[in-house]
Amino acid sequence: MKRRDFLATGALAATLPWHARAAQPSPAGEVAASAWGSAELRQLGAWDAHAHVGTPGATPAKRMEYLVRIADRVGVERMCIFMSPPWQYEPTPEQFRKSNDDVLAVLKEWSSRAFGFVYLNPTHTRASLDELERCVADGPMVGIKLWVGCHCNRPELDPIVKRAAELDAIILQHTWIKQRGKGNLPQESTPMELAELSARHPGVPLICGHTGGGDWSLGIRAIRSRSEIHADLGGGDPVYGEVEMAVRELGAARVLYGSDVHGRSFASQLGRVLGANLTVAEKRLILRDNLVRLLRPALKRKGITV
Ligand SMILES: [Zn+2]
Repeated sequence: MKRRDFLATGALAATLPWHARAAQPSPAGEVAASAWGSAELRQLGAWDAHAHVGTPGATPAKRMEYLVRIADRVGVERMCIFMSPPWQYEPTPEQFRKSNDDVLAVLKEWSSRAFGFVYLNPTHTRASLDELERCVADGPMVGIKLWVGCHCNRPELDPIVKRAAELDAIILQHTWIKQRGKGNLPQESTPMELAELSARHPGVPLICGHTGGGDWSLGIRAIRSRSEIHADLGGGDPVYGEVEMAVRELGAARVLYGSDVHGRSFASQLGRVLGANLTVAEKRLILRDNLVRLLRPALKRKGITV
């Protein structure tokens, strides 16, 4: 497609509601570049399990507007958002409350496109539980994001997981296995630690952020025996074979498309799924249906039917 046509198509798309855009025929010349291409993706409307509103903009809502323009272009209908910048490895309660305030500001204007996950640091257990009440029990958020503030096999997480289960709020825990440099950050979790946490809370669904990232082949195997843990594909390098291995070892119902935008792009991470050697039915599960299933109980509590 010529650049001018491409820009025109994007501008048109941004002015139309989602369902109307989905019904638009593909513009001439927009031939699917992958085994399952852009027209099918727009028709489906991907749900992204892992997004940050760190794009340019004067306010959180303006930053989200920028992100939505890109999402419209590539066929992402909904995204789970959390952790507004600046990024803080071990945030104080004041810092994570400020970050969550930004996400709440986004949700005020963009609840049609975004689901909010509350950012907590379990080291501050009481303050985290209070923030969970503010943002999920009494607020519009539907999940929890845990980053690198506290190893996720520590007992401080137990009351948070318990309360999350009562609220049907799914937890996305960042995990990584660094292969280079000095290794993981001091409080950074691994998929093995997430499997330990899961064993203490059988039946509670969890999302393994990045699925180990640097060494995803180990990460996938580390969570294999815990059927409650779902693999987030977001964030790592778009390496050949990862998506196929996750489906082979875990089953397609446990694999989730996530971009980790804006650290990564929607498009590069979508491409890993679209180009994978999988059936269309498996791609539909990964790109949308699994996340719909996981979020449905929490959304129902908020009166949102999907
Ligand atoms: Zn992230």
